[in-house]
Amino acid sequence: MKRAFNFSAGPSMLPLDVIEKVAAELTDYNGCGESVMEMSHRSAEFKQILKDAEADLRDLMSIPDNYKVLFLQGGGTLQFSMVPLNLMTGSKKADYIVGGSWAKKAAKEAAKFGDVKVVASSEDDNFTYIPKVDKSQIRPDADYVHITYNNTIYGTHYAEVPDVGDVTLVADMSSCILSENIDVSKFGLIYAGAQKNIGPAGMTLVIVREDLLGKAPADIPIYLDYQIHADNDSSYNTPPCFAIYVAGEVFKKIKREGGVEVLLKANVEKAKMLYDYIDGSGFYKCPVAKEDRSLMNVVFVTGNGDLDKKFVSQAKEKGLHNLGGHRSIGGMRASIYNAMPKEGVEALIDFMEEFRKENA
Ligand code: PMP
Repeated sequence: MKRAFNFSAGPSMLPLDVIEKVAAELTDYNGCGESVMEMSHRSAEFKQILKDAEADLRDLMSIPDNYKVLFLQGGGTLQFSMVPLNLMTGSKKADYIVGGSWAKKAAKEAAKFGDVKVVASSEDDNFTYIPKVDKSQIRPDADYVHITYNNTIYGTHYAEVPDVGDVTLVADMSSCILSENIDVSKFGLIYAGAQKNIGPAGMTLVIVREDLLGKAPADIPIYLDYQIHADNDSSYNTPPCFAIYVAGEVFKKIKREGGVEVLLKANVEKAKMLYDYIDGSGFYKCPVAKEDRSLMNVVFVTGNGDLDKKFVSQAKEKGLHNLGGHRSIGGMRASIYNAMPKEGVEALIDFMEEFRKENA
């Protein structure tokens, strides 16, 4: 069996040892005679899987006790509406910092439910940098400020948590969760789709401070109320059992191997290798401001659209998959999440150099 190095932005590579463990347990989980796919979400076995996944995540992210961890469905996209429906319920105002298309979509969705103000945007320069905000720009009575911590499409990332004063900070961490240490206490709510750094698609993680719960109006659809999920340990209805189980295996692996700090070190090393090569190549260009570059999504172009397409298809033949940029911007994007081994980045750089020699 030859596995490709898969640079997809999500769903993306998972650690091979986790996939192998899941494969070995696929028909019979832990000797109980059932697959996790077939198991009741009310069974003792599944309850333990859920409990362990939550405990391990709390440990990995040092999540304070006054935060709830919810395993939901609906992806980042459903959070674009769940966040305002639950949190934009005081002044009914929310401020959005727009550093990319996902943030823009989040703001547009929230505007259906209240007074949304885009306080800063980097759209003027094709989202190639993180818009800087001074806390004086934030409306002091806003119910929250929303940021996208890592912009998957444009390859930008916050170098530090922005200071929004006393206003609650909400962050979409879909494409950087567990890739770096985060001080959860600086955020009122963090959400992330699982399909990049956590596990298979189908599970969405929400980490929410308890005092923000219970504010949703009674007439919203019941699934959209965070309180329901918090009160029922993410099992008000059938949770995405299999995705939670695989995520739990990923959490165990990260813990076994030394935690998020170890991953961060590896991520910095991988990203540095790639950015250094791009910047020094004289052929490829990364349009992103250096201080705002993402460790997870590295975007680059040759400056010639046809050549970019040739790059992506030739790379695929070499077992380097999914290097095309997002369909909205083209070019190339190497998503190098936690599960991408250093060897994958080395193989990519070798191919880039070969391609440069042939096409420069
Ligand atoms: N936010 C970010 C930062 C994303 O990268 C994505 C998807 N890649 C989304 C939100 C949308 O997530 P989903 O497809 O899970 O709804």
